[in-house]
Amino acid sequence: MSHHTPKDSAPVASNFIRNIIEEDNRSGKWSGRVETRFPPEPNGYLHYGHAKSICLNFGLAEQYGGACHLRFDDTNPEKEEQEYVDAIIEAVRWLGFDWGTHLYFASDYFDRMYECAEYLIRVGKAYVDSLSAEQIRALRGTLTEPGQNSPYRDRSVEENLDLFRRMRDGEFADGAHVLRAKIDMASPNINLRDPVIYRIRKAVHHRAGNKWCVYPMYTFAHPIEDAIERITHSICTLEFEDQRPFYDWLLDALAEGGFFPRPLPQQIEFARLNLTYVVLSKRKLIQLVDEGHVAGWDDPRLPTLIGARRRGYTPEGFRRFAERIGVSKADSWIDIGVLEECMREHLNEVAERRVAVLDPLKLIITNYPEGQSERCQAPNHPLKPELGKRDLPFSRELWIEREDFMEEPVKGYHRLYPGNMVRLRYGFVIRCTGCQKDANGNITAVLAEYLPDSKSGTPGADNYKVKGNVHWVSAAHGCQVEVRLYDRLFAHPYPGARRDGDPDGQERDFLDDLNPESKRTLRAWVEPSLGHARPEARFQFERHGYFVVDRVDSRDGAPVFNRTVTLKDTWKK
Ligand code: ATP
Ligand code: MG
Repeated sequence: MSHHTPKDSAPVASNFIRNIIEEDNRSGKWSGRVETRFPPEPNGYLHYGHAKSICLNFGLAEQYGGACHLRFDDTNPEKEEQEYVDAIIEAVRWLGFDWGTHLYFASDYFDRMYECAEYLIRVGKAYVDSLSAEQIRALRGTLTEPGQNSPYRDRSVEENLDLFRRMRDGEFADGAHVLRAKIDMASPNINLRDPVIYRIRKAVHHRAGNKWCVYPMYTFAHPIEDAIERITHSICTLEFEDQRPFYDWLLDALAEGGFFPRPLPQQIEFARLNLTYVVLSKRKLIQLVDEGHVAGWDDPRLPTLIGARRRGYTPEGFRRFAERIGVSKADSWIDIGVLEECMREHLNEVAERRVAVLDPLKLIITNYPEGQSERCQAPNHPLKPELGKRDLPFSRELWIEREDFMEEPVKGYHRLYPGNMVRLRYGFVIRCTGCQKDANGNITAVLAEYLPDSKSGTPGADNYKVKGNVHWVSAAHGCQVEVRLYDRLFAHPYPGARRDGDPDGQERDFLDDLNPESKRTLRAWVEPSLGHARPEARFQFERHGYFVVDRVDSRDGAPVFNRTVTLKDTWKK
């Protein structure tokens, strides 16, 4: 696998899939029609990798004036649930894509699939095998040795049809028989060595109920789903490359039988998304949730799309990311920093600026009258004056960041220390006069005097040249809120991968690479305008990063803020 950080690319860069589509449009293969699909199995929550596939499939349809289908590949009765169907629909919609009327369920095609299977039997292209799964595996051969024919391979069409119908009618136990395509047990491609296409499963299906006792295998069902929906370009990840010959064999055989018109859908493979500092494997995600390493499927640290949404990641950020990383045929790792940067870029454009003090220390303006207050004004966005300004109340007691005061300043420190002058951002210039301490010597408050003619926005303000600029919240007016500082869930770029110095022959547990600092919760002081911030509203807290109002735990008047991403990449070495 190669290692690269993609550079910014033009909004619509060409790639090998776009080239295929454009060639098809030139040759008139599909009369200019472009129809793609996103085919999740409803057995889990969507993750960042799915976002790549969604942006690719829906994006191509948008770009070429076509359509993208949302199809639930629900051919496996045991693992699928309505809960996942609902969550997937919500996630794709959240990403901003529209399937129009093209919402499909593979299970709605079970009758057609069954007819296809009977047809293959009738033309001698499928047979019922009564070997056990282990026996079938044993005869399949290896990469270097051909397989051997099953003793049941030459059953007559009549016998095959009779057995298959009785399989359908529930006469046999699970595993007693399977239906196999009859291709070539000596094929160098193991996937063409008479793959199983139907099996007996006496299970209740989330949509079909108990109508079926036989279910199609994924490799049989998927090409048929594409052909029924007249998909033009069936885009999937690289692990299906070796399945393509079977995909083509099956659809060609069914086209011969008049089931589908030509041209037939074309399978095109691309490299799946691998992201540093992230695990995308369903098994590992389930383990993280089940063992309580995170707070649930929508934990903002999980790479699920419901987690991303809670984290404050934006649909536009995901689209930008998908465009920037592009698609290729070679597996590679994308630095998580690329995704974070895409979110930052979008948030920088849309997030209004606010003031929050995360590690509060009291600042007392000793020459400002008690009980008095006045308004300062701050722009909502430095580059977008049309977004207007808001009031920041100023009063005698303020909250500032603890790190903005040093009793004994280090070299180069320009913020508050006794004798120094700084500007309170959007407010007055102040001169620090000292501090107060408790019995243990801990600093409990900073003392300062303000210069009444220095207020930002007034003519006198420019007379003062100071190096330090400190943000603040009026203690009497601000709101105290919960802030959750989220960071990468893993502290190592390849969680669970072996590293130099690891003992030979020993696996590393990906859980050992969890970042113990991936979540910190604190009580912060924020400016009054944030007290009633709506769920999912996004802000830049000046100097601190981008934050979103948590859509689950916030209450009116008590917003909880999640840090989406820091202002700069703090992980860069
Ligand atoms: P499973 O192992 O259960 O099949 P899956 O992650 O492949 O899990 P699906 O529901 O089958 O889940 O995936 C739906 C679509 O998303 C498929 O077309 C699949 O190729 C694509 N997809 C899944 N993971 C990634 C990834 N990491 N990068 C890009 N596309 C992905
Ligand atoms: Mg899959």
